[in-house]
Amino acid sequence: MDETAVKAQGIIKTYRSGIFKKRETKALLGIDLEVRKGELFGILGPNGAGKTTFLNIIMGILGRDSGTLLILGEQIARSFPERLKMRMNMSSGNANFPWSLTVRENIIFYGMLYGMGGAKLSKKADELMEFVSLEQYKDRRFDELSTGNKQKLALAKSLINSPELLLLDEPTTGMDPDISAKIRAMIKDINKNRGITVLLTTHYMKEAEELCGRIAFIKGGAIRALGTKEELQTMVNARDMEEAFIELAAEE
Ligand code: ADP
Repeated sequence: MDETAVKAQGIIKTYRSGIFKKRETKALLGIDLEVRKGELFGILGPNGAGKTTFLNIIMGILGRDSGTLLILGEQIARSFPERLKMRMNMSSGNANFPWSLTVRENIIFYGMLYGMGGAKLSKKADELMEFVSLEQYKDRRFDELSTGNKQKLALAKSLINSPELLLLDEPTTGMDPDISAKIRAMIKDINKNRGITVLLTTHYMKEAEELCGRIAFIKGGAIRALGTKEELQTMVNARDMEEAFIELAAEE
């Protein structure tokens, strides 16, 4: 059995903008990364490092210039296979949903996009609202929710198709510490008890330290270090992860 969830080799991505697409931003310089099935893997790095770009490429939202990509046993060529999209999902920190739909309607709406419906979808929506503790807000409109509750809804929505691989882009950005802690507990639960492989990005060193078995430290579009938190600390001779992050971020 193939134990690899994601295998990326030499992923390069350049954004081209402006008149005649002459302005270039080299976002990814050649990323090699392997995530094993069942892992809770973290991509840690400062803003602008290329984290979101990488996740968007894995999700098939963005194309890549070059490099090979294997996801859940499928080799990704130019077009992203629809059947693979059914086995994955993604949640972003600054999630945006149809503002006039309620929490429940939003979850149902996303379920329908995955071809679900009827009693099965209804049951799943209720189960997910309970999982993220949003039952009491089920009839609240999206635009009336707090930032934390919006993020809980984003998590619930990303579980609607029972994905095998879940990508989380900065899942606790801009949240109060108590809400961040709750979201992190949910992420652990998703990985441990639902058996979902999780690949998350964060610029919070403590988040990576608390959640992730292995961490890739990325800066300037390149992986600068990869390993368990203990291995990363040893690599830069740091006493703790905070010091390791400062050392890694400072390295040119
Ligand atoms: P991170 O998620 O680590 O903050 P991003 O992947 O968002 O980093 O961005 C990586 C680099 O690519 C940054 O220099 C950013 O400014 C640039 N970038 C991101 N999106 C675009 C875009 N749509 N057009 C041009 N440049 C972009």
